[in-house]
Amino acid sequence: MKKKIAKKLKIVVFTGYACNNNCRFCIAADKRLLPQKTTAELSREIYQARNKGAQILEIIGGEATIRKDFSHMVSLAKKIGIPEVICATNGRVFSDLSRAREIVEAGMDTLVFSVHGAKAAVHDALTRSPGSFSELCRGLENLKKIGFSNINGNTAVVKTNMRGLPEIAGFYAEHKVRNVEYIFVDSNSGGANNNFFELVPHISKAAPFMRRALEIGLKAGFGQWKVRYVPLCHFTGYEAQISEINEKALFLTEHWAPDFKNLDVVKSRAAVGRRKTEKCLGCRLYGTCEGIWVEYLKNYGDEELHPVQ
Ligand code: SF4
Repeated sequence: MKKKIAKKLKIVVFTGYACNNNCRFCIAADKRLLPQKTTAELSREIYQARNKGAQILEIIGGEATIRKDFSHMVSLAKKIGIPEVICATNGRVFSDLSRAREIVEAGMDTLVFSVHGAKAAVHDALTRSPGSFSELCRGLENLKKIGFSNINGNTAVVKTNMRGLPEIAGFYAEHKVRNVEYIFVDSNSGGANNNFFELVPHISKAAPFMRRALEIGLKAGFGQWKVRYVPLCHFTGYEAQISEINEKALFLTEHWAPDFKNLDVVKSRAAVGRRKTEKCLGCRLYGTCEGIWVEYLKNYGDEELHPVQ
């Protein structure tokens, strides 16, 4: 009999939506001006997360690292016994060696760098922040200098960078980034929803580049690289590299944001955010697959979904 693995509770605490980048596709594009959580509120939530049994605390924004109290939050979480603290970041703060050192010394376990292009021209056009790519690269160098190697990556896949995914994969391989997610852009809200036709690619056009990026990882020995938010019919043979399947098996995820609390992220995404259609009936992967974003179906329809026999 297969041994059942106990799922880890992962609590994602959003500090607020302020950011030093301004990504075109950002899901929080319309929320930037909402008030930030205070230090007292965040400290309280970190205690609550520990008391609830969180094994992983993810602190995110906006861009959480731009807060003056960021390192304090990391060290508080570690001090009160949360085993793993991670942060998804645009990486710019780490271009300052002393800040990089301060955050690592506070006890940060894992950083997830968002890389949206392998060159400044592509990355900076998407972040709408000139210099953001070179700061990200300097951040990677600084972390290397101080011996911090627990760096993962994620890339939002949109029309303007999808052809460059193999190059981005090369960038990750060169920097020996073991865990990478290529994320098919969430078009249900925020920037990708506001500028849908400009940003959201057809899945049938994006998938070959996403698969090629996975192949580059496999060849370089990075079998952990994954794709996220994709209909599985475009990724048959890559089932071991689908983030949602992995996430469902290993984690219970909660989101604690300033404007909402979601106590079962996986369930609500499948129930509300994404859809399968009548075309999917009879598909062998129906039970595992979450389909595609609701807004995607509204705009592009379901022609590209192909039941897997
Ligand atoms: S046909 Fe539908 S259920 Fe099957 S893999 Fe595609 S999206 Fe998923």
